[in-house]
Amino acid sequence: MKDCIFCRIVNRESPADIVYEDDQILAFRDTNEKAPIHVLVIPKKHIRSLVDINIEDVPLIGHLMFVASKIANEKGISSRGFRLVLNSGLESGQSVWHVHLHLLGGRRMTWPPG
Ligand code: AMP
Repeated sequence: MKDCIFCRIVNRESPADIVYEDDQILAFRDTNEKAPIHVLVIPKKHIRSLVDINIEDVPLIGHLMFVASKIANEKGISSRGFRLVLNSGLESGQSVWHVHLHLLGGRRMTWPPG
């Protein structure tokens, strides 16, 4: 989608520090890191929010989770622990309207999140 910053990153029209790519998924560092490791894992397909997925997207979302866990492993944080965050909708704080998982790690997390 033309006006979506994450689609622009997928299409290489905007720069990003890419850490993983396959035919369906792209992962890159968040420009406003909230932890020593803060990677965004996104489907290349433009899906506005989690509530907009349809039944055909279920394997894609499973793959998204799998890739996040693979990156956590590669970054050496899988045994320490890490957090996945998926904001959906205004009250969650979602600011980019293209589904994305935040992979956060490298420090102790607090609960509940703000
Ligand atoms: P959310 O608030 O869950 O929608 O998260 C959107 C995230 O995207 C924020 O953590 C932003 O810092 C991040 N972000 C926005 N634009 C970019 C960009 N061009 N490259 C990398 N991260 C970005």
